[in-house]
Amino acid sequence: MSEQLAIGVIGAGFSGAVIAHQLAEQGYRVVVFDARSHIAGNCHTQRDSESGVMVHVYGPHIFHTDNERVWQFVNQFSTFEPYVNRVKALTGSRVFSLPINLLTINQFFGRTLNPTEAAAFIAEMGDSTIVDPQTFEEQALRFVGRELYEAFFKSYTIKQWGVSPSQLPASILKRLPVRFNYDDNYFSHRFQGMPREGYTAIVKRLLDHPNITILLNRSFRREEAANFAHVFYSGAIDAWFDHFEGRLGYRTLDFEPIRAQGDFQGCAVLNYCDDKVPWTRISEHKHFAPWESHEGTLCFKEFSRECEPADIPYYPIRLVEEKALLARYVEAARREEKVTFVGRLGTYRYLDMDVTIAEALETADQFLNTRQRGEKMPVFIQDPLV
Ligand code: UDP
Repeated sequence: MSEQLAIGVIGAGFSGAVIAHQLAEQGYRVVVFDARSHIAGNCHTQRDSESGVMVHVYGPHIFHTDNERVWQFVNQFSTFEPYVNRVKALTGSRVFSLPINLLTINQFFGRTLNPTEAAAFIAEMGDSTIVDPQTFEEQALRFVGRELYEAFFKSYTIKQWGVSPSQLPASILKRLPVRFNYDDNYFSHRFQGMPREGYTAIVKRLLDHPNITILLNRSFRREEAANFAHVFYSGAIDAWFDHFEGRLGYRTLDFEPIRAQGDFQGCAVLNYCDDKVPWTRISEHKHFAPWESHEGTLCFKEFSRECEPADIPYYPIRLVEEKALLARYVEAARREEKVTFVGRLGTYRYLDMDVTIAEALETADQFLNTRQRGEKMPVFIQDPLV
């Protein structure tokens, strides 16, 4: 490693922190910039001083993955406590278990079906005239039928995304399984858990390296790239180009705190699937750390809305118009000489933490390989348009 200039990493979330760590370990000097006053991006966790509860400041994050490398990697930086996400959903004044499983089906329809009967029953409910579902709505109507779709998905999705499910891609619903047994685990991944001291502690350990300098409250200007051997940018791709083509659409979230004593709702996440309440869900954060015990409790009502320029972006919307706009930014990005765009904002994709970390590890590997071979580092590791 003979480079004089340091590596610039923009954004101290998982993408940036993992890349910074991997390169620092190989002897590179790395400067990490973050415009916010804290590390860990939207995974940031912080203990509430009043109740002692560990708060997921930007909403619930549950770690789950099938990727063994990622699981081994994160376990080097934290103890992970066993945690299984079991979501409850309120619809039509009744509470059910999500994802849709045999208990949901039997309770919702007042039946006592076994797995085989339930599979046949739901297949019967599905609209088999939809052969190749493209939209969220088609996917739901095809695989669970109108009644379950309208009870659990339609209004929640309109609240969450601000558009009709007939305009959203099927991929959003494909995130959720439908099970014909009583397994109510929200995720189907092999590994699942919660970091004992929260996510910010992991990112802090990743960045705690003599070769890494962290600059917080510090925006990065594109011209500054000249001062670095290479830049890994995990900010919004349209912001890098000063939005010259227009702004990519995101959803942002507002959180309304509720303080109480004891147990407020009896579970970590309760979804509100009806349109008569404006929030999408309430999360009670002490239930994300069942190994801890706190008298007080802190919950957050979650409201989703369109992201304005001053807001924090959460979910890339990726409707047809946004993808066309994204294509123009991707074209501009491909002309960059020494910048690699990474992560949820850098590639405008709806990524879970494990995928973000897997891609960051791959990005660092690729950088080290290209440096060794004297080749150019790619602008993207994953095509943002796929
Ligand atoms: N969804 C829904 N009702 C629910 C839970 C989820 O309609 O009770 C829909 C919603 O459109 C959401 C999508 O399913 O965006 C995927 O859910 P997931 O829990 O993966 O969303 P996340 O909260 O992780 O963004």
